[in-house]
Amino acid sequence: MSDKIKYISANEFSGEVLSAGNVVVDFYSTECPPCEALASKFESLSRVYGDDIKFIKIHRQENRDLAVSLGVSSSPTLLFYKNGQLIGNRLSGGIKRSDIVANLELLLSPEKAVYLKAGIECSLTECDILIIGGGPAGLSAAIYTAQAKLKTIVVDKDLPGGQVKVTHLVSNYPGFAEPVSGYMLMHYMSEQAKAAGADFRSAVDITDIDLKKKFIVVDDYETISAKIIIIAAGSSPRPLNVKGELEYKGQGISYCATCDAKFYEGKHVVVIGGGNSAIEESLFISKFAAKITIIHQFDKLQANKLAQEKAFADTKIEFVFEHEPREFIKNGSSVNEVLVENLNTHQLKTIGCDGVFIFAGMIPNISEIKQYFELDNWGYIKTDKDMKTNLPGIYAIGDVVSKSFRQITTAVSDGTIAAISISREFEKIEEPSELINA
Ligand SMILES: Cc1cc2nc3c(=O)[nH]c(=O)nc-3n(C[C@H](O)[C@H](O)[C@H](O)COP(=O)(O)OP(=O)(O)OC[C@H]3O[C@@H](n4cnc5c(N)ncnc54)[C@H](O)[C@@H]3O)c2cc1C
Repeated sequence: MSDKIKYISANEFSGEVLSAGNVVVDFYSTECPPCEALASKFESLSRVYGDDIKFIKIHRQENRDLAVSLGVSSSPTLLFYKNGQLIGNRLSGGIKRSDIVANLELLLSPEKAVYLKAGIECSLTECDILIIGGGPAGLSAAIYTAQAKLKTIVVDKDLPGGQVKVTHLVSNYPGFAEPVSGYMLMHYMSEQAKAAGADFRSAVDITDIDLKKKFIVVDDYETISAKIIIIAAGSSPRPLNVKGELEYKGQGISYCATCDAKFYEGKHVVVIGGGNSAIEESLFISKFAAKITIIHQFDKLQANKLAQEKAFADTKIEFVFEHEPREFIKNGSSVNEVLVENLNTHQLKTIGCDGVFIFAGMIPNISEIKQYFELDNWGYIKTDKDMKTNLPGIYAIGDVVSKSFRQITTAVSDGTIAAISISREFEKIEEPSELINA
């Protein structure tokens, strides 16, 4: 624990924060994964900046009135004060080191900020297994390799949990008779990996990577070198590349129903897509919206039969088949019209709405490393039956892999196969470098 961090309560706030010079305050909670992810960053930064900036921690629940009076409603929240005045950005959720540094530097003179940054030393951590991505695939692999007593580190640019942590309900993951919240399912998985002994670097940026030499640099601050690297970076929504889509992302264009459906209470929403995600997420949006228009390029849905039946039975949902969007139009603060083309007649028409959700498939999150790998025609990484890629010592699992079905169960299966295969190799070979070059 750094001696540069001070824990205070509400009655000390005025003296320790408002009457002081440069201060950063961390409102934290216990049993809070994003707070745990922040703690190590806060501590290491206190060692660099702690002589010039006061690092304060306040337990949010025990000092609720103070937190409420400052508008702090979630943990962790970082506030930056200069001479009693709030400055910079209020940071919360999965907080990145680079964002903290940018705000700390606002408290310092430019010369001092450059001087202190130059003094930051990059540390080196060595491990057996480095897993890039903490979704179901990466976490399953971590549970197995950590239980096999291999030193395992999971690195994620976000908080662990992958796409599932923002999926409202999961009804097809074995072991749960009732649908389970995606967030809780992934919470259980990451806690299980931690309990097994896996280490995490969460909400970090990989600022350098060399898969041949098997190292990454995290936040320009920590080099992690590994005997084996597992790529488990998942996939992201495929953009449609339709006019207005990128410009109005976050202004009426969304890719995440769990995150944004609540903003459409009583409103009319257009959903683009007809696969599992589009239909299942439409059923969720239907809890909020008054009307949903699903626009699909084919003449029937591709979703599973159960989801289709529910969607057809939902009186709020209507379907526009064999049409594609051509432009998202925004008059005012949010997208309020979609220009669509009938694929048979090529006639154009506009559909009025209050917002649009796009579920048009996914692309693998490997743009910075794809040059290392043999890929299939759709850009996914080819592996063998043990999840080995063409690059010695590098495995790939989950949604980044070339395969027919991308589900939580298939991601978990890939993670299991890779981890057991790696553990067996470690057992067989005393000197793991033999395995890497095998
Ligand atoms: C809307 C929606 C609903 C779904 N519903 C279901 C369902 O009900 N049932 C089901 O079985 N499946 C469902 N799926 C599919 C399921 O979510 C995926 O198949 C599964 O999450 C894949 O797991 P993964 O670990 O491979 O990848 P992901 O879950 O995508 O996790 C990848 C992780 O890697 C991290 N990452 C990415 N790039 C980097 C980087 N450069 N550096 C560090 N970390 C990185 C990400 O932050 C993420 O945490 C759904 C998918 C979507 C989009």
